[in-house]
Amino acid sequence: MNKTENLFDLVKDQISQSFATLNLKKELEVLISNPNNEIIVNFPVKLKNDSLKIFKGYRVQHNNLLGPYKGGLRFHQNVYLDECKALAFWMTMKTALHNIPFGGGKGGIKFNPYEYNDTDLKEISIQFSKALSNYIGEDKDIPAPDVGTNSKIMDLMTHTYLNTTNTINKGVYTGKSIPFGGSEGRTEATGRGLYICLLEWAKRNNILLEGKTYILQGFGNVGSNLALLLSKLGMTMIAVGDHTGYYENDEGFNIYKMLEYVKKNKSLENYNIGNNIDKTLFFSKKCDIVIPAALELQIKKEEAEIINCKMVLEAANGPVDIEGETILTNKGITVIPDILANSGGVLVSYYEWLQNRSHNYWSKEKVLNKLDNKMSELFNKVYDLSIKNNYNMRTASYYISLNRLQDVYIASGVL
Ligand code: NAD
Repeated sequence: MNKTENLFDLVKDQISQSFATLNLKKELEVLISNPNNEIIVNFPVKLKNDSLKIFKGYRVQHNNLLGPYKGGLRFHQNVYLDECKALAFWMTMKTALHNIPFGGGKGGIKFNPYEYNDTDLKEISIQFSKALSNYIGEDKDIPAPDVGTNSKIMDLMTHTYLNTTNTINKGVYTGKSIPFGGSEGRTEATGRGLYICLLEWAKRNNILLEGKTYILQGFGNVGSNLALLLSKLGMTMIAVGDHTGYYENDEGFNIYKMLEYVKKNKSLENYNIGNNIDKTLFFSKKCDIVIPAALELQIKKEEAEIINCKMVLEAANGPVDIEGETILTNKGITVIPDILANSGGVLVSYYEWLQNRSHNYWSKEKVLNKLDNKMSELFNKVYDLSIKNNYNMRTASYYISLNRLQDVYIASGVL
């Protein structure tokens, strides 16, 4: 595995860069450089074909200074411990940036969910929830959906947790379905938060978004919900891709038709509109905005050199590595960083947790209004700081998150 293929190396580089730029206590760097707990569970599952298989599950609990650990669960064949450590670190930064009472965590199972039928997926989720039950809780660690998981899986895992622990509060998991105690607006929250960042960025730069073009990598929960909102703005998606391939269409794709296709076929494979292209052609497509909404480490040196746009909106976590970001910056391309841009999901997860605790459920209008206001306020705070101190937006975001953690460590006598 070379250096940029290990996601935790990107976190280490970002931490070093932040502490070299920002005036923070050295001990804070020590405190946040490693997670508090790294949990690995190997659990057996009886599959539909009667075979017994051991699955490897992870839960990394990075930091709980501000509140219970919080972060998603990923079902993907490439899940590994250092990836969970990196994603958990970013969750600590995200919750501190929003000043919500959570820390950071992340986990998942190393397996390809596309290779299993629904009955087996259900059993794998149930057994994973049992294996995690001693380590999580509504005041301890609160998982949520991420790549390869959804509200159906969160419902199953919550139900199993409540039965296993003989408890009743559903706030132990967020991202549940509405009948099971989920929040209105959670499914589209991450895409909507990204959309608000884009609107605010355009306002601050006097850019009219109508008629602007973008390319989108990843057409899952985050990517498709964002694309729906962008089509309402009159923006045109001229290239798109997922784990099965990439497509271009200079006329623009119809997002509603694409969504219908993906719901039915589970991916973009064999999509019959536009031309099939490779990943290099995809990233070299001239457009206004590039949106990585799939996985980490997608924009490295090679991709950054060919990207031709005004702005990169980080919908995925850690999609751009340090070298990639330097190249983009030198080309005058703004990067709106993941911990700010995709934080709408954890914000509405917080609202879900509050609703579960109070047994008082909010209307969709209320949730979306709160989300929109909080995201635009935070975007402008980061943007103003980046201009005032001549930071890029990632450094400005880290400035806010790290200072918040430092203040609480000082108040608690640790620093
Ligand atoms: P998802 O599973 O719904 O969708 C993932 C998409 O990425 C799919 O279209 C998939 O085909 C595509 N993809 C996977 N591997 C790929 C590859 N190698 N090349 C190209 N495309 C590939 O997941 P999601 O919830 O939409 O998450 C997407 C990203 O957003 C992840 O980085 C996730 O951590 C981040 N994120 C998600 C949330 C959330 O609320 N779901 C919140 C914050 C950040």
